[in-house]
Amino acid sequence: MKKIAVLGAGLCGATAAAALTQQGYQVTVFDKGRVAGGRMSSKRTEQGYLDMGAQYFTARSDAFKRQVKLWLDAGKVELWPCKTALLSNDEGFISLKASEDTQARFIGVPSMQSPVTALLDGIPQVNSCRIQKLDYQQQSWTLFNDEGVSYTGFDAIILTLPPVQAQQLVAHSALPELFGSADDVLEPCWAVAMHTDAMPAQDAIFCQHPKLRFISHQQHKAGRSSCYILHFNAVFSGLYLDESAQFWFAEAIAILRQELHIQQEIRPLVAHRWLYASQNDQSAAPGLIALPNLKLWAGGDWSFGGRVENAYLAGLNLANALIEQDKSQQETP
Ligand SMILES: Cc1cc2nc3c(=O)[nH]c(=O)nc-3n(C[C@H](O)[C@H](O)[C@H](O)COP(=O)(O)OP(=O)(O)OC[C@H]3O[C@@H](n4cnc5c(N)ncnc54)[C@H](O)[C@@H]3O)c2cc1C
Repeated sequence: MKKIAVLGAGLCGATAAAALTQQGYQVTVFDKGRVAGGRMSSKRTEQGYLDMGAQYFTARSDAFKRQVKLWLDAGKVELWPCKTALLSNDEGFISLKASEDTQARFIGVPSMQSPVTALLDGIPQVNSCRIQKLDYQQQSWTLFNDEGVSYTGFDAIILTLPPVQAQQLVAHSALPELFGSADDVLEPCWAVAMHTDAMPAQDAIFCQHPKLRFISHQQHKAGRSSCYILHFNAVFSGLYLDESAQFWFAEAIAILRQELHIQQEIRPLVAHRWLYASQNDQSAAPGLIALPNLKLWAGGDWSFGGRVENAYLAGLNLANALIEQDKSQQETP
């Protein structure tokens, strides 16, 4: 195996692509987005970046700690000096309680996708390219995008799309199903950025709120616009999935007034809908998916329980699975 197509330029795909490139494979990374980053993307504005997806990440495994240290040394990430609180719900009575902890939380600088971009440095990428169909003939893969453009001659494929999108792609390609049910692995989230001159005492508020799961303020994040980001929880986001940005702005203003007691003017900036945001706690993590006979491997944060760190670990494991298979084939006489 020499030429590898990696689908998805989130952290998982970027990690797999970097690990394979290091081992001498010729890798091309495809993504439907304009830039790499996936769910770690920040939106660029004149006032600075808005972290509409992942807010921060933690590092618990030795492998990820080593990688984070490299990023820290290269200035691609830094520690988020973040004061935390809890918006607690005591039988319907919502109140803000200090809940300082000692957890180290990291952010990309100047945007969340910086570490992803760093991993992909020098690796060929095809962006704004939604892959719609895959075809495997005579041990060679061809990819087709939604404009009918084809990319040929790949020996193996690594899929790092969210499960529903991966399942749709293989169904459209008449390939074997990857999951029994992909629907409930990742849940939706509406994310809203709002500006106000009121500065909060906390940077990260974990919410036990009927509508929200997280509020963050970007005042202590380098490169960011100083504003609030609200993440609505999966149940509320799912109930009103197709509502307009105006609906979400109105909800965000009401919550900032009622729960954080903000009296100053509140100005809506951006609302973004994530159809597949984060792992459903109730659904089992499916692990990596391997179809070695077809030289196709699939994985992502969802393989190991969601979150940025698991996307990185999935990327490393996908690359290793491919390399192992390749070695074992070379050894077979
Ligand atoms: C609102 C929100 C808040 C979050 N907060 C946190 C947090 O605070 N801490 C944390 O650790 N994690 C958080 N996460 C989760 C974290 O962002 C993810 O775990 C991680 O970024 C997933 O990386 P990935 O590479 O597995 O997937 P992704 O980043 O989703 O990458 C998959 C890529 O595939 C591309 N793609 C999809 N279909 C196609 C196609 N047909 N053709 C080509 N490309 C395609 C997509 O554009 C995407 O770039 C959050 C996520 C969201 C959405």
